[in-house]
Amino acid sequence: MLRLPHPTGMYTRLLGLALGALTFHVGRLLAPFCASGNVMARLVMKFGGTSVADLDRIRNVARHVKREVDAGYDVAVIVSAMAGATNQLVEWSRQAAMLHDAREYDAVVATGEQVTAGLLAIVLEGMGVNARSWQGWQLPILTDNAHGSARILGVNGAELIKRFKEHGQVAVIAGFQGMHKETGRVTTLGRGGSDTSAVAIAAAIGAERCDIYTDVDGVYTTDPRVVPKAHRMDKIAYEEMLELASLGAKVMQVRSVELGMVHNVRIFVRSSFEKPEDIDPSKPPSGTLICDEGDIVEQQVVTGIAFSKDEAQISIRRVQDKPGVAAAIFGPLADSNINVDMIVQNVSGDGATTDLTFTVPSADYERARVTLEKAKGSIGYARLDGATDVAKVSVIGIGMRSHAGVAAKAFKALAEQNINILAITTSEIKFSVLIKATQTDLAVRTLHTLYGLDKA
Ligand code: ASP
Ligand code: MG
Repeated sequence: MLRLPHPTGMYTRLLGLALGALTFHVGRLLAPFCASGNVMARLVMKFGGTSVADLDRIRNVARHVKREVDAGYDVAVIVSAMAGATNQLVEWSRQAAMLHDAREYDAVVATGEQVTAGLLAIVLEGMGVNARSWQGWQLPILTDNAHGSARILGVNGAELIKRFKEHGQVAVIAGFQGMHKETGRVTTLGRGGSDTSAVAIAAAIGAERCDIYTDVDGVYTTDPRVVPKAHRMDKIAYEEMLELASLGAKVMQVRSVELGMVHNVRIFVRSSFEKPEDIDPSKPPSGTLICDEGDIVEQQVVTGIAFSKDEAQISIRRVQDKPGVAAAIFGPLADSNINVDMIVQNVSGDGATTDLTFTVPSADYERARVTLEKAKGSIGYARLDGATDVAKVSVIGIGMRSHAGVAAKAFKALAEQNINILAITTSEIKFSVLIKATQTDLAVRTLHTLYGLDKA
């Protein structure tokens, strides 16, 4: 006999379905960052040195991790060494021998992360969270053999994913380190490299997001210590972040942002000092998302202002205006590993000689002068002038591509403040001015207001 469902029963079931759908929907609203449909989304969480500086803070980190595990994420955690630990290890290597083998330097400095990865795994286990620590060679994270500043070539994410599936196991991974493919030796990725480890792992396991927990709660329009009205951006495009990062807004290792851009990893910068229990899971977390420009709906013309006081200016007077001169100047500087930034050359008036101005990091100023004086014979110039009391202020924004007159506005505003511009460089999404260092704060504040970045 065919039994029709009891009307009430059917009702309940329909209601159940509706409720189910509702729960799912609310669930998504409650966790707006959760990938749709994917029940076990993967998340990378990275904690820097200050966030794991002692056992109390490591416990705090563990609670952050547990929160995400409880929310249903498969989690890979990447940790730095305890604050100061890497400096100490670098110092010991130096004291052992000023000139040392880079392979052994890596063997020494990679240990800092090993300690924190193990400790965090222990604390997590103690909290009832299944966790296992991993060093670079164990996964492995394969790199080239540029010891001390190695590049990641590949990451084996499959083993991590297997353990997520089979054991629900959190992977605690030592950042900053890898293994050279051919020799099997430990490598490190350069200072600040655990950001890059985190982004690489996020790409390898297809993480929905790579959360960078740090001692600031996001990326600001400029340094809030200089401009109290600076505000945290909700979103910033990879390219803008690259400009900000390389211009001295020291939030993340530049290479990590490049990697994120190539693999389209959504990077979220947030505070590790926010108490895990104070985070309301029904609200979107606060921080800054570094993402594709296409994901930014309300794109502003100018997004941020960076500055650097560690600049020095060198002017070479009356150099020969003939082919090969620029090579004669910048070749020796490159050979001495001196990074040249802004370069301004005049069109010569007499067709015979011209002036050339450029900037170098102030730490390299003396070395640059010596290098150029040595090369005077091959370059041929009348005089060398220089100054270290200069600063570079840069205005960044992808919107500049499509808006004219953005820089012109700045020149006028700076002039009104009596700020003299020594040199200017521009690119598609930024322009920089070189000014007297004493006027940096005034310039930054003026520009911040000018482009409407002051928070209401
Ligand atoms: N511990 C390493 C450093 O201090 C790597 C990192 O923290 O990202 O450079
Ligand atoms: Mg860092």
